[in-house]
Amino acid sequence: MTTSGLEQRIRVLPESVINQIAAGEVVLRPASVIKELGENAIDAEAQQISFWTEAGGKNLIQVTDDGIGMSPIDAELCFERHATSKIATAQDLYALCTKGFRGEALASIAAVAEVELFTRRPTDEIGTHVIMAFGKKRLSEPVRCAVGTTIIVRKLFQRVPVRRKSLRSDLTEHRHNLQEFFRLAYPHPERHFRFYHNKLLVVDLPPASLSERILSIHPELSEEALIPLAEETPLFKVWGYAVLPELTPPGNREGFLFINGRYIRHAGLQHVIGQVYKPLLPPEVRPLYWVFLEVPPAQVDVNVTPAKTEARLVHEMEIRKMLGSVFRQALAKSKLALPADWLSHPSAVLEMSVPAAMPAAPRVIAPSLGLPSPEGPALQYLLLQGRFLVLNTAEGESWLIDLLGAHERILYEKYLRGQEVVPQGLLFPALAPVSPLQCAQIAELKPLLQAQGLEIEIREGKEVVLHAIPAGLRPAAAGAILEALLEVAASEALPPDWRELMARHIARYGALRPPYTLAPEAVQTLWQSLLACEEPNYSPSGRRIRFLLSAEALERLFK
Ligand code: ADP
Ligand code: MG
Repeated sequence: MTTSGLEQRIRVLPESVINQIAAGEVVLRPASVIKELGENAIDAEAQQISFWTEAGGKNLIQVTDDGIGMSPIDAELCFERHATSKIATAQDLYALCTKGFRGEALASIAAVAEVELFTRRPTDEIGTHVIMAFGKKRLSEPVRCAVGTTIIVRKLFQRVPVRRKSLRSDLTEHRHNLQEFFRLAYPHPERHFRFYHNKLLVVDLPPASLSERILSIHPELSEEALIPLAEETPLFKVWGYAVLPELTPPGNREGFLFINGRYIRHAGLQHVIGQVYKPLLPPEVRPLYWVFLEVPPAQVDVNVTPAKTEARLVHEMEIRKMLGSVFRQALAKSKLALPADWLSHPSAVLEMSVPAAMPAAPRVIAPSLGLPSPEGPALQYLLLQGRFLVLNTAEGESWLIDLLGAHERILYEKYLRGQEVVPQGLLFPALAPVSPLQCAQIAELKPLLQAQGLEIEIREGKEVVLHAIPAGLRPAAAGAILEALLEVAASEALPPDWRELMARHIARYGALRPPYTLAPEAVQTLWQSLLACEEPNYSPSGRRIRFLLSAEALERLFK
């Protein structure tokens, strides 16, 4: 069988389809619109930038600025793909001073929503009004409007049901929106930013200094917490603030890095900063800082991802070294005990962390509690049924103790306090399929979980593998612990008490099961750990742990 030599199966896609595909990369959720429109307003030299959202941006996102505005021709052109006023030749890519340059944002947003534009230049009497809907121009006419630009985005993703469905609750989207809003507001403290949600002014950031701006976004911080950073070399300049380790709030999610005014995630540079903080922070607390790095535009490439949140730096190694020393000097102001070689050890921060070798799993109950060897006289005890302990204390009291409940309580409090936890590798890692949303949540939690002895790998955004659990837990609990984790990650927003939930699950599934055998030192360790608990009488699931066997209680028993 032959086919015609003229058969054409390949075709060049129409513009509308191309725009929709590209929109998939640029516009992931309402927060992406906030970011792109906000960046355009900043590029337009606006001094007042206001954001309005409704239903977390699902129903409406409006950004109004008092910037340079657009001519009637530009007002239509701006929705074309690769239409930009910011670069003209490839050479210009090496001298970027603007946030935008790809000319994709407005085309992408207009491909997946209804977009209305009002714009006027200061020199024009009359402005321009343009309406775009799902990639098509609906209207373009002269209009009376204020100087500057207003863009209104409605019906986001209405024709992309998959995206629409993957949006989370209004509140969660609102949180993402605010996050992008703050990332725009930090590098431009001299401009006035406002954010309204459901018609209420939720954040008002009038022109201020950088430290005032940081403090108005973070009322939980005080001025003493902020240590200024400053350094300048012929190759780069750094300024900003580091938060003192002892005043770093525990709920903090990230430190902020800006390169040439742009919010950037850079694993290499941020690792260096993290290493400087590490000996000074409890394992579950992340460092908080605002670092502004200025490098010649030709030495940084942000054209790495569509959202431009990653960067390649020509002088990365030099910048790493410099950041390490800038932070060590700043943190030397901490009142905490600093490592002896704090200021004199420039190379240490350049090493990447190597995962620690995993120790063999202890199986008996005492070592798993991770306490120092017990002191004091040995206790008299009797183990019943491999589970219940009758204990005579040094004070002459007698207690009846359920060892299973006691073990759960001790594990629970240990994880909740985030005490140093050693991971124990699993011979048979637990594995489970995950949704993209769960994946995102888990990826965010990964470093926190790691500090809690849970080592997690995300495979191709589809599967999660649990490779290690805290030493001292039953390896058989891995599956149940992973399930508990997936449950936590499945909720719309991370429950505020997720640590407590995880600690509860870890204790419940991870506690060794009876029958137990106990050495005398183990009894001592166990009793001391139980007494150190905030609630030594009940297990986290509410079961009684111990009874005092007083004379009256025993007598009552025999009545
Ligand atoms: P880019 O920002 O990469 O140039 P966009 O699609 O975001 O691409 O915007 C296209 C063009 O529209 C910009 O280059 C700019 O000329 C114009 N523009 C967009 N928003 C504004 C605004 N708020 N004020 C003035 N001009 C704007
Ligand atoms: Mg732009």
